[in-house]
Order: sequence, then C-alpha cells, then structure tokens
Amino acid sequence: MPQRDYYEILGVSRNATQVEIKRAYRRLARQYHPDVSNDPDAEERFKELNTAYEVLSDPDKRARYDRFGHAGVNADAGFGGFGMGGFGGLDDIFEEFFGAGFAGGSRRRSRRGPGRGRDLSYELTIDFEEAVFGTEKEIEIPRQEVCEECRGTGAAPGTSPSRCPECGGTGEVRTVRQTFLGSMINVNTCPRCRGRGEIITTPCPVCQGSGKTRVTRRLKVNIPAGVDDGMKIRIQGEGEPGQNGGPPGNLYVIINVRPHKYFKRRNHDILLEITINVAQAALGDTITVPTVDGEAELIIPPGTQTGESFRLRGKGFPRLRRDGTSAGRGDQWVIVQVVVPKHLTPEQRELFEALAETLDTNIIPPQSKGFFDRVLDFLSGEG
Ligand SMILES: [Zn+2]
Ligand SMILES: [Zn+2]
Repeated sequence: MPQRDYYEILGVSRNATQVEIKRAYRRLARQYHPDVSNDPDAEERFKELNTAYEVLSDPDKRARYDRFGHAGVNADAGFGGFGMGGFGGLDDIFEEFFGAGFAGGSRRRSRRGPGRGRDLSYELTIDFEEAVFGTEKEIEIPRQEVCEECRGTGAAPGTSPSRCPECGGTGEVRTVRQTFLGSMINVNTCPRCRGRGEIITTPCPVCQGSGKTRVTRRLKVNIPAGVDDGMKIRIQGEGEPGQNGGPPGNLYVIINVRPHKYFKRRNHDILLEITINVAQAALGDTITVPTVDGEAELIIPPGTQTGESFRLRGKGFPRLRRDGTSAGRGDQWVIVQVVVPKHLTPEQRELFEALAETLDTNIIPPQSKGFFDRVLDFLSGEG
C-alpha cells in the first residue's frame, strides 16, 4: 500500500509550525472521526491522520521523516518493541505499516484455529393450507461436507500430511530487510502451505486433497402450523462444515406461501369474498362456503347488504405462543357482495316489475358507507 505524504494528509506545508499542525489535526480528526463521519473510508482516513500527526507532532520523528521519508519512521514502528517504544496503539500501527500478517504469531494462530461454517439458506414454497396446518417437507440442499474418505485431512487414507519444507512447519515465512537503522523483519503466511505448516504429498482421491466434498443432502423440515410468508426457520448445524474442527453453520429455510385462489390472510384471520343474489340478500339464506377445514354452513340473514361480513369462528390460522404451544385459532371472515342481475328473463322481469310497485323509490344520498369503503375498512382492520 503506497503511503501518502504526512504533510499532505494534514494539509499543511512542510514548514508548518507545531501550532498549525495541531490545529489541522484537530479539524480533520473531527471530520473523519468514525463515530461522526458518514464517509465509508472514515476509519482509514482517521488512522492515517493519527499516524501522520504522531510523526509530525514529535520534533524528533518529524526531523527523521523530513530526512528519510517514511523509511525513517516506519523503522521506528518496526522496532518499537526493542526499546524505542512510546508509540500508542502499536497493533494498529503495525497493521498500518505492514499490512495484516505482520503481527505474526497471534494472527497465524487465529487463521489456523477453529471457525464456524457458513450459513446456508433455502427458499421453500408451500401451499396456503400447509401454512395453516403445518407440514413436513423433504428438501435437497447442495452443500460442502467433510470428506468421509480422509476425514477432512485431505491426505489419502494410509498416508499423512508431511511438514512443509518451505516454512519448516511454522506456517509463516520471514523476510529480513536491511535499513539504515538495522534489520526489519517481515512475517507472512507461508504461501506453500497457506499457514497450515504441513502439505499433502498424496492427496485423497475422493476430495483431491481439499478435505471437503460437495454433496446433495436430503433433509426433512418441519413446517410449524401458522407460518407466514417470508418467515425463516432455522435448522441448527445443517449449514456448511466448520474450519479446523469448528462448529457447522446453520441452514435457514425461507418460507414462501403460494397465494390461494379464494382465501386471503390477515394476521390470524382468513378472508373470503363471496357473491349472493338480490333474493338471498333480501330474504336471507343458508349457504355453503369453503373453509380451510372443508365446507361450512353460513347463515345469511334477511336484509343483508353488500359489504357486510360474517364470522366463522376458529377457522383461521393457529395462534402460536413464543414457546410453540397453541393458543387457539383466528377466524374466517366472509365478506358478501350482492349481485344485481344484468339480464332478466321475461318471467323475472314481470316479477321485478310487480316488486317495484311495492318498493320505496325515494332516492336519498346514502348515509352508510358503500361496499368498497366497507371492504377497505375491513381489510385495514377498522370494520
Ligand atoms: Zn478426502
Ligand atoms: Zn509452509
């Protein structure tokens, strides 16, 4: 990573006074402080700024920087542990100057240590009824698993990995660079064994030495009654395997509920819109309507208006408590629309004409809401 000039970072001239440097630092620190800045590079800029200020605010370091450039002060950081010290936040500074991997041992260990496997997700589409009552589904997920042939070592059975000749089994390589202040040691992950410290001489024939195989695994998934579209079901430990003995990730099954031909869902209730004719509306009737539990009888009282809704108790979605126990079911609401015939037979026409003689013909602006308003109210839960 090329390093920017410290004077440029602080936006001051090379002969700036200590006061000017301090003022520039404070102004920029306020601007780039990661807690206040929205700049995506804020953290980087803030680090860079601190590094520049640490050097330029110290007359000694500034003099070395003026004479030797970054090398004059980088070496300082590199030898901080050997007595020159005095630098705050050494870890950050190591990272800044040498990139990840410099801090050596501790990083290498964490790279080789156990790590949790990746999570997987699977989209599962189910029917409306399956969402009401729950179901068990078999799904097939492609995922990586630990190779059974070599138990994840990557070495062919009967052979074992051997020590990496490049790094002698340490997993890291050191390069020594001579500078005017002495030797600088740079530690990197061994490129041959990628930090493992061992290499596979006879790779496992099944996984070609990777220690993992791609398999398609069949799993049974229990879909609880009452699930809603977009819900996620977590299946512990069915994700990808962990690294170096770490625990596996989880599998998340994302539920898609196929829309139903007639039913709609509102929270725990089911809505159904039906049509009745004018005679049923005026005289009342007993009709059969579909529910998720099969057909049910519904009494339409005489004088039913368009937009009225009737409740069938307990025919909705199950209400689940947090602990998974059931707390009864929601209801089904049947919303009625009265349909006026568009075409009349001669006989029907006669009957309507006779009826018309007896009906009130006063046209008064209706006080009650229209069908559409009532359906909207109902759908929004105000009905
Ligand atoms: Zn294998
Ligand atoms: Zn190696």
